[in-house]
Amino acid sequence: MTRERIFLSPPHMSGNEMKYIQEAFDTNWIAPLGTNVDKFEEEVCEYVGVDHALALSSGTAGIHLALKYYGVGPGDYVFCSGLTFAGSCNPILYQYANPVFIDSEPETWNMSPIALEKAFEWAKTENKMPKAIIIVDLYGQSADYDQLLPICKKYGVPVIEDAAEALGATYKGKKCGTFGDISIFSFNGNKIITTSGGGMVVSNDEAAIKKMRFWATQSREPANHYEHKEIGYNYRISNICAGIGRGQLEVLNSRVLKKKEVHLRYVNELKDLPIQFMPINKNGDPNYWLTVMTINKGYSITPSTIIKELESNNIESRHTWKPMNMQELYKGNANFSHAHVSTGKWIFEQGICLPSGSTLSYDDQFQIIKLIKYLF
Ligand SMILES: *Cc1c(COP(=O)(O)O)cnc(C)c1O
Repeated sequence: MTRERIFLSPPHMSGNEMKYIQEAFDTNWIAPLGTNVDKFEEEVCEYVGVDHALALSSGTAGIHLALKYYGVGPGDYVFCSGLTFAGSCNPILYQYANPVFIDSEPETWNMSPIALEKAFEWAKTENKMPKAIIIVDLYGQSADYDQLLPICKKYGVPVIEDAAEALGATYKGKKCGTFGDISIFSFNGNKIITTSGGGMVVSNDEAAIKKMRFWATQSREPANHYEHKEIGYNYRISNICAGIGRGQLEVLNSRVLKKKEVHLRYVNELKDLPIQFMPINKNGDPNYWLTVMTINKGYSITPSTIIKELESNNIESRHTWKPMNMQELYKGNANFSHAHVSTGKWIFEQGICLPSGSTLSYDDQFQIIKLIKYLF
């Protein structure tokens, strides 16, 4: 067998990236600033429908800067979706604050409004409101903001939308990235579009973007010499990587369509098995970054069985995120469940992310489908 390895969600270049990289080379603008960075910010603003953007070296850096902007410091609480990647919440620790994890709802696998209310009730009894709340749009699907935002508003806490996985997804016709007071995207290698590594913060709050831009460039005061009054970070993206991003952004919509095709084929072919796919909220249109399914309880087949079987055929698949409240690192942190049984824990125990690349061929996908059907 000579087939190449099938990856979970490999980078998929458009061919236009080189044009922008070449421009950077031609002008010798191989710096962490330059035309590609400025244009990339403008183009993302236009695509998403926000006023201001700041291109960064990672999505994690964006969350860190947003937390700092909301004054998160030692001992403060920050609420955060529990079922997510560690990049969502590690920045809370960078600021020496305490994450409080909020479980998922079964309806969307995103933050549960019920668990969120419980957490706010608890914070009230502690007499300490969170400084910010990080809501994740999981696996490319928008959280249910009509449920969540009124609760955050009622308690007057700013929202950071972690749309790292959800560029191109919509909720009630609005793009993900427009629901947070500050929102972030990631352009890591496995995301729907990539800059090989990078991220962006977006917001309609001009002052916020300006301040974060300052911190992201080592907090250099406007002076002729190097003058510093505040701590700073080296968080900007390079003009080269931003060039890749510009080429990728041009094909984002076609990537979403391709991923949706892949998703629908899985749903259609596997629908008779004792499994469920991540439920899709009728108010939203995901970008179908990853197709994720759970195996019904009571079957001897586990996610590990499938992952191993696919791996032995040189096919990459993954477990779903392991909830942050189940991680050793966060074992001392408060956690609020949706119901008696934690949704996130159940998704982790029963869930598997299927190869979902926009480059996945029809033949390769049918091989995956055949292997899974055979196991059942
Ligand atoms: C990828 C990801 C991040 C981190 O983005 P990086 O660019 O890798 O730093 C944060 N949150 C979620 C939900 C992610 O999937």
